[in-house]
Amino acid sequence: MTTSSNSPSASSVHAAWQQRSAASVWHPCTQMKRLGEAPPLAIARAQGPWLEDVDGLRYFDATSSWWVNLFGHADARINAALKHQLDTLEHVMLAGCTHAPAVELAERLSARTGHALGHTFFASDGASAVEIALKMSFHSWKNRGLGDKREFVCLRHGYHGETIGALAVTDVAVFRDAYDPLLMRAHVVMAPDARQAAPGESAAEVAQRAVAELAMLLESRAGQVAALIIEPLVQCAAGMAMHDAAYLREVRALCDRHQVHLIADEIAVGCGRTGTFFAFEQASPEGGPTIWPDLLCLSKGISGGYLPLSLVLATDAIYEAFLDDDTARGFLHSHSYTGNPLACRAALAVLDRFDDEPVLQRNRETGALLTTALAARLEGDARIEHVRQRGMIWAFDVREAHAGVRFAERFHLAGRARGLLIRPIGRTVYLMPPYVLNDEHVAYLSERVVATLHAVL
Ligand SMILES: *Cc1c(COP(=O)(O)O)cnc(C)c1O
Repeated sequence: MTTSSNSPSASSVHAAWQQRSAASVWHPCTQMKRLGEAPPLAIARAQGPWLEDVDGLRYFDATSSWWVNLFGHADARINAALKHQLDTLEHVMLAGCTHAPAVELAERLSARTGHALGHTFFASDGASAVEIALKMSFHSWKNRGLGDKREFVCLRHGYHGETIGALAVTDVAVFRDAYDPLLMRAHVVMAPDARQAAPGESAAEVAQRAVAELAMLLESRAGQVAALIIEPLVQCAAGMAMHDAAYLREVRALCDRHQVHLIADEIAVGCGRTGTFFAFEQASPEGGPTIWPDLLCLSKGISGGYLPLSLVLATDAIYEAFLDDDTARGFLHSHSYTGNPLACRAALAVLDRFDDEPVLQRNRETGALLTTALAARLEGDARIEHVRQRGMIWAFDVREAHAGVRFAERFHLAGRARGLLIRPIGRTVYLMPPYVLNDEHVAYLSERVVATLHAVL
């Protein structure tokens, strides 16, 4: 593989793939009219954190391919596990049948919550997991004779996916506004985003303000509210908005007080991304009892970036509300590929990594190096603000006065020309690399990101 300064003008082979893609593939999250200015990279293969295009140029996958890839591409252990599973059982339906990969995955996830969330429901993508959590919450209250509890609360700028139900609890205008007339109404309350701090105000105090607003709502509407849905510790699609863990503790207590389910959407922040396997683990007070949400959604990293898989973990109390002689009081939600053995096998291989290797410890060490390297290169740059980090997520915001038009697109293209696959969210530049960083990667990433920034501003 060649590297360093990649020419932004692609070869004729590359251009041909771009043209065929533009003519036939309707790309996600893309204004197709702008494909001429920002044509898709035609990727031929990948290894570790590196993507290689059809011209043999390589790019560091700085966002883990939309936050899904945990241990790099073509990981030997996950590949081997999948090849074995492929020759054993590729798929069987999960209604009326069961199989080792689904059982083992459910058991091991349950164990990771100390069996507080002992029942795992399987689906295929993040948005579906959110739909399932919303339906489970409502239906379990209804089965318990509390059918009035059918409203949901979500956070300002929160993101939970783009199917109609998930979009109703998503507050990101660019995804939501066009469909607003189709959506059920949810209550949107203040997010604990620490960037809102007034001078002298701490992140914990911002969290307190957000808790107070939620408390007011629940005092008046708890009889109608089924659940609160949040992204613990980092609201990723909002632009890596980070908050104090005290927020999670306080909302847990509020939800208990008002009989409202707490749904933790860990689709992006789960699987070690924030420094603990589940982000919610950081909610428990030191030395105090371990606290958990009522429902927890996982997807993205759980299958290592190999196959679509999502899961909803539920408490005994929610699960038991569905047990009845009447079929219709069960949770009948179903997906064709529910519990796909290949996807479950990939997830088990991911869990093996966490069990057999000091993944979180290693991330703390390499993460500290990247934090230091970035800080050194960004220090004193008055064009940026809110330099922040949580676990394996780094972010900073470019001030409005300096960003200019189409900042995210220009940054993305300038990054490509410097061997980086990176896509800012608005004016927020962020890194969410795979958990395979070595010293060379740290130097490469910090240098190229800052070089890209200088080129764009
Ligand atoms: C990505 C994401 C989703 C949606 O997952 P998809 O697989 O893209 O449907 C939901 N919630 C959060 C927090 C996410 O980051």
